[in-house]
Amino acid sequence: MASPVPEVSSVVAEARQLYEQTFGGRPQVVVCAPGRVNLIGEHTDYNDGFVLPMALPLVTVVVGSQTPGQDVTVITAAKDVDESRSVTFHLPDDGAPLSPGQPSWANYVKGVVHHYRAQPVPGFRAVIASTVPLGGGLSSSASLEVAVYTFLQQLHPDDGDKVAKAVACQQAEHTHAGVPCGIMDQFVSVLGREAHALLIDCRSLEATPVPLSDPALVILITNSNVKHSLTGSEYPTRRRQCEEAASALGKASLRDATMKDLEDARNRLDNVTYCRARHVIEEIERTVQAAKALKRGSYEEFGKLMVESHHSLRDLYEVSCKELDELVSAAMEVEGVFGSRMTGGGFGGCTVTLLQAHAIDKTILRIQERYSGTPTFYVTTPSEGARVLNLS
Ligand code: ADP
Ligand code: MG
Repeated sequence: MASPVPEVSSVVAEARQLYEQTFGGRPQVVVCAPGRVNLIGEHTDYNDGFVLPMALPLVTVVVGSQTPGQDVTVITAAKDVDESRSVTFHLPDDGAPLSPGQPSWANYVKGVVHHYRAQPVPGFRAVIASTVPLGGGLSSSASLEVAVYTFLQQLHPDDGDKVAKAVACQQAEHTHAGVPCGIMDQFVSVLGREAHALLIDCRSLEATPVPLSDPALVILITNSNVKHSLTGSEYPTRRRQCEEAASALGKASLRDATMKDLEDARNRLDNVTYCRARHVIEEIERTVQAAKALKRGSYEEFGKLMVESHHSLRDLYEVSCKELDELVSAAMEVEGVFGSRMTGGGFGGCTVTLLQAHAIDKTILRIQERYSGTPTFYVTTPSEGARVLNLS
């Protein structure tokens, strides 16, 4: 029922085949970096708050080789890219900027080349293949950035600082893809740990692994397979509203604000700004509580916090949509489901559901019955961050 998550080795085989067809010869280097699902802590990362994601068994693979000279050629195997799947560009001399352009997917690659922490980057050719759905809210973009960065580390090593690597990949998304994202996606794609979720303090950039490997539990991701066009424009608006709220409260960020601060300032804020700030302040607290609940094995409490998070995203932050609400409601009808919520930026993409392993078939059936669209399911486990793979 749930589509089995393809093995990393099959994605590597796909990438290698395309590499050998296109360039001839074997690639020197094979790396991968995972997508992620955020269990709780949504729209808190760019407010210096806490998030609790885990790395997925879904990955982006890069295979390739260094080449003489300053040319870069990259090909993506992604079928749903509707521009050219191949790009060639010249590495500029003396740290001159590498400008974004067409095809747009290549800007993620160019951004990473530009922000790579051990310049100059040598010429290379590479093929990208991925099992992370593109634009599905599981962070194919960060997994692509981190995979490209990991690939460059094999050609021309940097100092190996993992947090700085995540920050460089985030910068790539800001400057070259034009998305002012927080640090969560890149951070967990670099530092994710098998059998653990990661509680990330997005201010100090410290991460605490939280064990999550109880065989009686399942983490189900349901892709709504819709993406409303609001996604792009609403995200920067939410960021701006949070900054306005923080500054009205006299705080550096909403991380520093309490609900008392917000209530005291209520008559100085318009209602929308109040609601946005309330979501962020309460969600940061919920995330800390959820990590504690998970450590104690209190799955019911964790699930309750997930549902509260969803309601807050729907009603206060207004980033849910009919499809995500349907998916959450359907899952919550099933006995054995602890909690369910939208995950990622919103307006489509995925939900994440925590449930007892025995309830998985019933839950999938119920969602299929109730959901007006066509869902895709992934039964997932917390996986390792970016890594170098052996060429067998
Ligand atoms: P998400 O990160 O949630 O999947 P984004 O909109 O942030 O969604 O990023 C999706 C974009 O990232 C794609 O439209 C494409 O430009 C780029 N991308 C991600 N993975 C790949 C890939 N394997 N090949 C080419 N481009 C990719
Ligand atoms: Mg993304």
